[in-house]
Amino acid sequence: MTYPYHTAYIGMGSNLADPIGQLKDAIHALTTLHGCELIACSSLYASKPMGPQDQPDYVNAVACLKTELKPLTLLKELQQIEQIQGRQRNGQRWGPRTLDLDILLIDQEQINTPELQVPHYGMQSREFVLYPLQEIAPDLQLPCGKLLSELVANCPANGLTAIVAADQVWQPAR
Ligand code: ATP
Ligand code: MG
Ligand code: MG
Repeated sequence: MTYPYHTAYIGMGSNLADPIGQLKDAIHALTTLHGCELIACSSLYASKPMGPQDQPDYVNAVACLKTELKPLTLLKELQQIEQIQGRQRNGQRWGPRTLDLDILLIDQEQINTPELQVPHYGMQSREFVLYPLQEIAPDLQLPCGKLLSELVANCPANGLTAIVAADQVWQPAR
């Protein structure tokens, strides 16, 4: 890893074709990304779907990467992992998917382009993002100044349940 590197938080979700396996595969893929190093990964959580309710429950997690990639390059790499794992975009917003990888945060950067908005626009109100993020980064403060702990305190858990412990998903190299 060459300096300067960035710290990026990635939100992951799946509700099709063995969601737990999809997330484990995605986490493995993150460990193989060039110019990136996986630093932490949350437990896996079961969550209720957002948007259309006639779809299976989701499995979600949040990972932390050190990366020397530029933000758009990181987005393209994540989209390639989504594609490899069979992501199809059929036009239905928030419809079922094998894998969704969203960039939540990159350092304290604020990016507002058509392709990429960071911090992710939905993260402040999504329990399936905030709770796993708090598990791996309890003291985090967003670029807007809000504390993650305050956002969590104001966000109902909506049935979110840890289903696979973090150390069963990924362990840092010793
Ligand atoms: P949501 O963004 O509400 O979580 P989604 O993840 O299902 O919905 P996608 O279909 O995965 O949405 O992505 C739609 C577009 O969002 C992508 O083509 C990408 O260019 C754009 N996008 C903007 N900001 C981000 C971000 N921070 N992380 C990932 N994609 C982003
Ligand atoms: Mg998403
Ligand atoms: Mg997405």
